[in-house]
Amino acid sequence: MTLTPPVVRFAPSPTGYIHIGNARTALYNALVAMKDGGSFILRFDDTDLERSRAEYADQIEADICWLGIEPALIVRQSERFAHYNQVAEDLKKRGLLYPCYETPEELDRKRALQRARGLPPVYDRAALKLTEAERAAYQGEGRKPHWRFLLTNFDGDPFATQSNSVGWDDMCRGAQTVDLAALSDPVLIRADGTYLYTLPSVVDDIDLGVTHVIRGEDHVTNTGVQIDIFRALGAEAPIFGHHNLLTLASGEGLSKRLGSLSVAALNGDGMEPQAVAAVAALIGTSQPLELSPTLEDLARSFSLSQVSRAPAKFDPEDVERLNAKLLHALPFEAVSERLEALGVTGDSRFWHAVRPNLTRLTEAKNWWDIVSGIVEPDVDDAGGDVRNAALEALPETPWDEETWPAWTKAIREATGQKGRALFMPLRRALTGLDHGPEIGPLLPLIGRTKAESRLRGQAA
Ligand code: GLU
Repeated sequence: MTLTPPVVRFAPSPTGYIHIGNARTALYNALVAMKDGGSFILRFDDTDLERSRAEYADQIEADICWLGIEPALIVRQSERFAHYNQVAEDLKKRGLLYPCYETPEELDRKRALQRARGLPPVYDRAALKLTEAERAAYQGEGRKPHWRFLLTNFDGDPFATQSNSVGWDDMCRGAQTVDLAALSDPVLIRADGTYLYTLPSVVDDIDLGVTHVIRGEDHVTNTGVQIDIFRALGAEAPIFGHHNLLTLASGEGLSKRLGSLSVAALNGDGMEPQAVAAVAALIGTSQPLELSPTLEDLARSFSLSQVSRAPAKFDPEDVERLNAKLLHALPFEAVSERLEALGVTGDSRFWHAVRPNLTRLTEAKNWWDIVSGIVEPDVDDAGGDVRNAALEALPETPWDEETWPAWTKAIREATGQKGRALFMPLRRALTGLDHGPEIGPLLPLIGRTKAESRLRGQAA
């Protein structure tokens, strides 16, 4: 399959639900692809077979589509092990992937010693000095090797490391460098034979022709390492962009454990995808936090260079605020099917009456229940004089938008009440609540019969 460039990928590990911070990464990739008619790959980094789950992968795919992103291709790393093995064998033959036998405790001890001597805790490549016989002895003890990649930070002698700064022009952060001499040779294959994400990611990016790798800034150091691996595999590294991360108001980072901020939970809580996408993409950027009708519109006005370097604070209220704003402007045709699915059979008059008061679409159902009499409001008998006057002045049908102003004028004249003292008893009697949409447009929908019985304090 040929993918039209720019080719980007969003590469979650399906070990939990994605949260709004992951949505940011997915959206940035999607926006870069959309802006130039490119292709978005959804790649499941599921090399950790123990922790990866099909149900998480399915939910992530659903979340991505819900946000308005259409993957051109879906790839699972768990289906590509044979390929990674081939590449690993080639690196082993070339001496670029070498076996190490230290246990985690031995490595900890080495690092503690280095720190005590004021040295950086960089792996000393002791395993490179092992003879065949020593390796065989470890194997005989039942030790299995883990495999490290030999970083390009020496000239001839791997024990005499020299500075080698790998640089790239980051789409978000500008010029970046990572000095490979400051890093330990990364472990690419664990002792149990499983792959860390580092090598499979590079192999896939090469095979799929990924042109832009856009991910969180927690991967900046990995990028130095991965550029070295791209080169070792004879490939040109893609363009990189590392965006700032989202934190909670407290400064705490987001994690997959925070289920409440998962994209699925926001969806379940009645947030619209455009509101979630706007917040995920635009907080912590120089762009104002505003809704875009579609992702294509957002793509046109957005550039990764607008992403700030500081962490961005995520406030769930921003999503609610934008969600409300979005609903307040939605035409009836855009929601009629969803309203019907909620059991709301009211027409556009009902929608226009309640729309200004909604934060979530599902709230329309509560109002429909009250307006249509599916639920009879619980009413106390406060404001008796206003209610009696209202019954006295109960207008004849047909009721329309003019009914409410005329009726309340008559009640005001009869009782001398005005403002809250006039409107609150009526609102409470007619809807059972002391807040809500303007009563005027709702009144014709409630109708004379129900209004009268509610004012009398009886069920219709
Ligand atoms: N699976 C990695 C992560 O979730 C992907 C990082 C990348 O985009 O390369 O952090």
